[in-house]
Amino acid sequence: MAGTGKFFVGGNWKCNGTKDSIKQLVSDLNSATLEPDVDIVVGPPFVYLDQVKSSLTDRIEIAAQNSWINKGGAFTGEISAEQLKDIGCKWVILGHSERRHVIGENDEFIGKKAAYALGQNLGVIACIGELLEEREAGKTFDVCFKQLKAYADAVSSWDNIVIAYEPVWAIGTGKVASPEQAQEVHVAVRDWLTKNVSADVASKTRIIYGGSVNAGNSAELAKKEDIDGFLVGGASLKGADFATIINSVT
Ligand code: PGA
Repeated sequence: MAGTGKFFVGGNWKCNGTKDSIKQLVSDLNSATLEPDVDIVVGPPFVYLDQVKSSLTDRIEIAAQNSWINKGGAFTGEISAEQLKDIGCKWVILGHSERRHVIGENDEFIGKKAAYALGQNLGVIACIGELLEEREAGKTFDVCFKQLKAYADAVSSWDNIVIAYEPVWAIGTGKVASPEQAQEVHVAVRDWLTKNVSADVASKTRIIYGGSVNAGNSAELAKKEDIDGFLVGGASLKGADFATIINSVT
């Protein structure tokens, strides 16, 4: 834990769940014993945000998995930051690799969405991460820095941003980055923030890791100095596993 502030663990439920399965997951989370010194958020699909907000313990905040780039209006299928605030959402996940590589969102678009969400007082979990071929070509830092720059160009304050380093090759694949691989990129990200934003932002911003984090590997990852938490996909759909990951804070 190098970023000042608490360890931060987010659960990204992606496009999973039904009313019934989510009721069960919420009940499991409500009865779990959770380390007090950890910021915890979960990101249900939009249609279940309200159900989760009204049934989940206040100990856990709610995140949306996306938000629109601007004020709402005639944008079919989109959800605005204002609407998210309206239902009690505190966070939004932006720049996730599935939005980048499946839906086709680019760096600039994501940066602008982050700036808009921050302007509406949402916290932003700002994702970055390289593809396998980019890593193999030795471009990991270049790709991450380019994605970081797009956020930095758009936002005016980093107070409400958590950076999630999520190597694309590790997401949903069961291939977790080694603690050393994650630490190496987290250090590089912090260094980039020092040089391009400020030393203060670099020391305060939490940099969390995502990509096949589970109840069996989180403790080893959490020992690394610059890993300030996790963004968890698959394993966040099981209450007991998610609790174990939260409690792996060191
Ligand atoms: P995973 O997903 O934990 O299932 O690899 C992480 C993420 O996409 O945030």
